[in-house]
Amino acid sequence: MMCCMQRRNGHYRHLVLCGWAFIALAFLFCASRVAQENAEALKNNPARKLESYHFNASTQLIDRLKPIPSFLLEEIKKMDGRDDYRNYTFSPEEKKELAHYLELLPPRYKDVMRKRLIGIYAVSPFMGAGLTDWVMDAKGEVYAIMVINPGVMKKNISEWLTYREKSCFNDDGSGLEVRVDVGVRYSALMYFLLHETAHVVDYVEYHTPYVELSLKAVSAYSARDKLFVRGIWDEYAKPDRDADFPLRSEITFYGLSNGPKIPLSKAKELYNAFSKSPFVSLYASQNWAEDFAETAMVYHITRKLHQPYRILVHRKGKILYQYYPDKSEKKEQRFKYFASFY
Ligand SMILES: [Zn+2]
Repeated sequence: MMCCMQRRNGHYRHLVLCGWAFIALAFLFCASRVAQENAEALKNNPARKLESYHFNASTQLIDRLKPIPSFLLEEIKKMDGRDDYRNYTFSPEEKKELAHYLELLPPRYKDVMRKRLIGIYAVSPFMGAGLTDWVMDAKGEVYAIMVINPGVMKKNISEWLTYREKSCFNDDGSGLEVRVDVGVRYSALMYFLLHETAHVVDYVEYHTPYVELSLKAVSAYSARDKLFVRGIWDEYAKPDRDADFPLRSEITFYGLSNGPKIPLSKAKELYNAFSKSPFVSLYASQNWAEDFAETAMVYHITRKLHQPYRILVHRKGKILYQYYPDKSEKKEQRFKYFASFY
């Protein structure tokens, strides 16, 4: 599962559910005893089986916005330890915004989603912005479901990315603050859709060797095999020496991994180092899957939606440092990969 935002965030859930994906694939390809036992559990989990859903690849994407099936809602409630999650019905205005944003996604994403996105569900309350998860058919083909927290439509994209960025730093009383400016035209739903659907496309088309570390055992690819990754990453979460930068290993998000570890007084130092790297965001520098999702997102936001992208360090509104990641030559080189998505 990839659900890369807010509070308790992606990684915990991501690991929980990518375990399922691994189990499924291991069953399909390895058939070890342990995998078979786990696969039994998987087989009995309706949320992981395509046949549990009424999937129709000929419907419009917006018509896949449906009430969440109860077995899936129960699964997510259990995973999150929450019993207050409820199906949420989008207002006509919210549905219109979603339809509009889906239209604005890269054509390649829409193609993949038409073939593989089973349903879009809204749940509220919900911890995090939403999630994307795998479902499999009997042949092992990967499909996806998407859950949206309707709260993402109430924040603009800059507010959301600023929230994410701030979670890297601890307040050391220096008075410094960080902010991400991606304009105010779009709500955080645009970020959610661009980032999460990039993971779906990556799962289906293998732009990176494997989207989740636990899929390594069943992937036929390594870093050398993938153009987007080659020369940038040696391993899933280990950049090539030339791509790495000081303090990168200290970057954490949402209070996870014993973070935040970087004091705000080091923000300028961190961004200075980051600015020389090939990554478009601190989030992208975590592993090749996030690198793919973030680079695709920044490319689309700046080049196709014509929004700004600027990281600022300020004190009481006075800008002390600013950086435009999309304007660097190294990042520009990597944007070229995405031209074929249009
Ligand atoms: Zn992600």
